[in-house]
Amino acid sequence: MDYDVIIVGASIAGCTAATAYGRAGLRVGLLERHSNPQSHKTLCGHFILGGTHDTLQRLDFWQPMLARGAAVARGLGVWTEAGWIVPRPDQGVPPAISLRRSKLDPLLREIAANTPGVDLLLGHRVVDLVEDSAGTIDGVVAVTPGGERLILRARLIVGADGHRSTVAGLAGVAEDRAPNQRFLFWAYYEGAPMNGPGDGQVWMLDPDIAVCIRVDDGLTQVGVFPGKARLREFTEDREGAFGRFVEQLPDGPTLTGARRVSNFVGTTDYPCVRRDPTPRPRLALIGDAATASDPVPAVGCGWAFRSAAWLADATAGTLAAGGDLRHALRTYRRAHRFIDKWDDLGRADALAAPPNAIQRAIRRAAVHDAAIARRLAMFSMRAAAPSVLVNPAVAVRAAVGSRRVSPSASHQPL
Ligand SMILES: Cc1cc2nc3c(=O)[nH]c(=O)nc-3n(C[C@H](O)[C@H](O)[C@H](O)COP(=O)(O)OP(=O)(O)OC[C@H]3O[C@@H](n4cnc5c(N)ncnc54)[C@H](O)[C@@H]3O)c2cc1C
Repeated sequence: MDYDVIIVGASIAGCTAATAYGRAGLRVGLLERHSNPQSHKTLCGHFILGGTHDTLQRLDFWQPMLARGAAVARGLGVWTEAGWIVPRPDQGVPPAISLRRSKLDPLLREIAANTPGVDLLLGHRVVDLVEDSAGTIDGVVAVTPGGERLILRARLIVGADGHRSTVAGLAGVAEDRAPNQRFLFWAYYEGAPMNGPGDGQVWMLDPDIAVCIRVDDGLTQVGVFPGKARLREFTEDREGAFGRFVEQLPDGPTLTGARRVSNFVGTTDYPCVRRDPTPRPRLALIGDAATASDPVPAVGCGWAFRSAAWLADATAGTLAAGGDLRHALRTYRRAHRFIDKWDDLGRADALAAPPNAIQRAIRRAAVHDAAIARRLAMFSMRAAAPSVLVNPAVAVRAAVGSRRVSPSASHQPL
């Protein structure tokens, strides 16, 4: 065997897994089709939810991200038709972090490449898989920068190659697709003051959503996620439609006098794609290759970090001991169900339907009720299982509280 693990794709998921495996003493081949170590994903809003904080700390990524200028958001203000849900400083919700991918991707690649045991093979595009005599995948065929076909073998092959995953395609893995009824655009501004509460703001305009976030280099990122009914307006005049949308946001950022320092980045259609994360005996998928969710709730980078860490946690010991990978991969599959549950909810939200009575009651209650506001923040940050908010006790308290607000009741724990 050339390596213990071959990982295809050196972006968030691939670099995270490679770093974790290397630190566990394993030999890792990390193959990336791009030759330039600075290459990065451009179609990404790079807001990494607080639920990823522990993983980033544990992997020692958090401090290097701060050192590259990442902006930390400890609480977002959420505008609802009932008013602002203002974040409280003491609510114990883990912080989110934002570092543009032009800095994040090279940083993660650098960390992985400097980890003993990791061979970062840039300019190596995987074009085929290799199977042993029993039909089990045990290697990849890559085209090198010189145009040669290189065969590499390992005990575990990992597809970390994004939502169009070549590895999954070559392995014949089925895709489960779901529609997305919103589209999205954002831009970065210098000198754009925020006027809402918290370190950033989210506007729930049903079905439209908007965000305003601080990012690295002191820039402000303003994003709009309208329902597809407004697609024509944006196709005809993107800049004008974007400006009108932001102007009408209650307490929205002041863009007059601000300097836009980027193009409008975004996409008019981004369906959700899901694949089995352990589809064949010695094959695992992580990050977008397993679950490419709706971009609107900003979950994808977090899922990429977390699924990569879970895979390494589940399999590194077995790989080091030369044991049977089946049990280890089942452990990874179980851990991944956390993402599957969230993705079920995300797919429903991506239909851009009006909020139901319970969702409306929770938002209304959260404006006044600190306990519900905290649960909503934990939910939005994917810092707990969906049941942190989606449970009968919360629904009842919200239904009662949204009709009659009592300040004394608002601080009682649920
Ligand atoms: C419009 C939009 C906005 C988003 N905004 C956010 C956000 O604000 N917050 C958030 O958390 N998520 C966001 N996401 C999601 C996030 O971008 C992805 O979830 C994340 O990039 C997944 O990381 P990954 O490492 O799995 O895959 P990717 O980042 O896609 O990386 C895949 C890597 O594999 C390499 N590769 C592909 N094929 C091959 C091959 N054959 N051989 C070798 N290498 C190969 C690629 O070059 C690339 O380096 C957004 C997504 C979209 C579309």
